Amino acid sequence: MNANKPRIVVLGAGYAGMMTTKRLTQKFGAEEAEIVLVNKHNYHYQTTWLHEVAAGTINPNQARVMIKDVINPNRVRLIYDSVVKVNKEEKQVVLENSELSYDYLVISLGFETNTFGIKGMEENAFFIQDIDSCRYIYEHIEYQFAKYNNDPEADEDSLNILVGGGGFTGVEFVGELAEKIPELCKKYDVERSKARIINVEAAPSIMPGFDKELVAYAKSSLQSRGVEFREGAAIKECTEDAFIVGDDNEEIKAGTIVWTGGVKGSPVLAESGFEITKGKVTVDGDLRAPGEEDIFIIGDCAWVMNEAEGRPFPPTAQAAIQHADTCANNLYALLNNQPLEKFVFDDKGTVASLGITDAMGTVFDRKLYGKTAAAMKKVVDNRYVFMLGGPKLFLKKGKIRPF
Ligand SMILES: Cc1cc2nc3c(=O)[nH]c(=O)nc-3n(C[C@H](O)[C@H](O)[C@H](O)COP(=O)(O)OP(=O)(O)OC[C@H]3O[C@@H](n4cnc5c(N)ncnc54)[C@H](O)[C@@H]3O)c2cc1C
Repeated sequence: MNANKPRIVVLGAGYAGMMTTKRLTQKFGAEEAEIVLVNKHNYHYQTTWLHEVAAGTINPNQARVMIKDVINPNRVRLIYDSVVKVNKEEKQVVLENSELSYDYLVISLGFETNTFGIKGMEENAFFIQDIDSCRYIYEHIEYQFAKYNNDPEADEDSLNILVGGGGFTGVEFVGELAEKIPELCKKYDVERSKARIINVEAAPSIMPGFDKELVAYAKSSLQSRGVEFREGAAIKECTEDAFIVGDDNEEIKAGTIVWTGGVKGSPVLAESGFEITKGKVTVDGDLRAPGEEDIFIIGDCAWVMNEAEGRPFPPTAQAAIQHADTCANNLYALLNNQPLEKFVFDDKGTVASLGITDAMGTVFDRKLYGKTAAAMKKVVDNRYVFMLGGPKLFLKKGKIRPF
């Protein structure tokens, strides 16, 4: 390594890692800093679109972008490998196939599904985790339909889809299923009533903590399209073909079981000896790991405290993108002996999709429903595509289908 040119290593090319890398290339001249981006795959995917890939309402390729198409490989060294751990003392990152030293490190490795130790969930449920896992979910659902009329002994419950967890991801996923299942029924000559979509949530209501009026809207919209909700139903066990719920051990059977009930930060954090709280690292106000001068932790790996409310901000793509700006500014400040800035979250609101033409949420403190909300959701999705790759990427990967 050139002694005069510090090496900044960014781990993970999700929202946080991609935007940090982009901002770093804008802030630093090539002679000022070497920038390295490490990611498991040679593509970046839109995590917020994964429920659509899993339900088969968009093509997996629309939800991903080759990294070299949006990050100049002549400016940023791109390494496609899996991070195993960080050796803080030696300032080294251990990858599956090599090792890499750093002067400054950004950890933006995203989330991993958390099953909270529910018996059988790890072994028997599908997870909305990445492109591969979501493509697998959709292929499995379609296989169940293709099999149904060919197998005289096909289980009557095999077309049912059980979705564990009625949070944001679970609700968005059943919204997409409500679009796709009628299409599959038609394609495979199956009566619509044969395929149930059942969302199971332990809390008294789906989307706990969300605005009650908006939740009521989401529920009635989804129920009118055939989604069933089982609220206040704690899942005790997940078997090969069922959830066991409640005190009376009710068995709800299905041919497809998807768990969306929780996430935690990348396991690399614990493996590297960081102090973990509920699966993530609580970072300082400037987004550095406590006690670490040269390590930033951002996106879904970090708890960033909301001082006003005395609890961390929820992990979102919106926050991850904003972390990236502060992180890049602070790396610039560090390298130029300037004071670091504190992260300030600018909450623009949240919109949950309920299928292709329906959604609900709040934007700039205004409640939105129906087609207006669905249009706003597309604006948010497309804005990110534009930020990442300009008009060229927007035309290639943007959501421009009218409805
Ligand atoms: C279905 C769904 C819908 C969502 N909808 C919304 C929404 O509408 N609005 C919103 O704001 N948020 C939403 N979220 C949350 C949002 O997607 C996350 O908060 C966001 O993706 C976090 O960004 P990140 O950069 O930290 O991680 P990610 O985007 O998950 O990126 C992590 C990257 O690191 C890579 N990686 C992971 N482990 C390794 C390893 N060991 N080695 C190398 N590379 C690795 C991954 O491949 C990935 O590229 C949604 C999440 C889901 C699952």
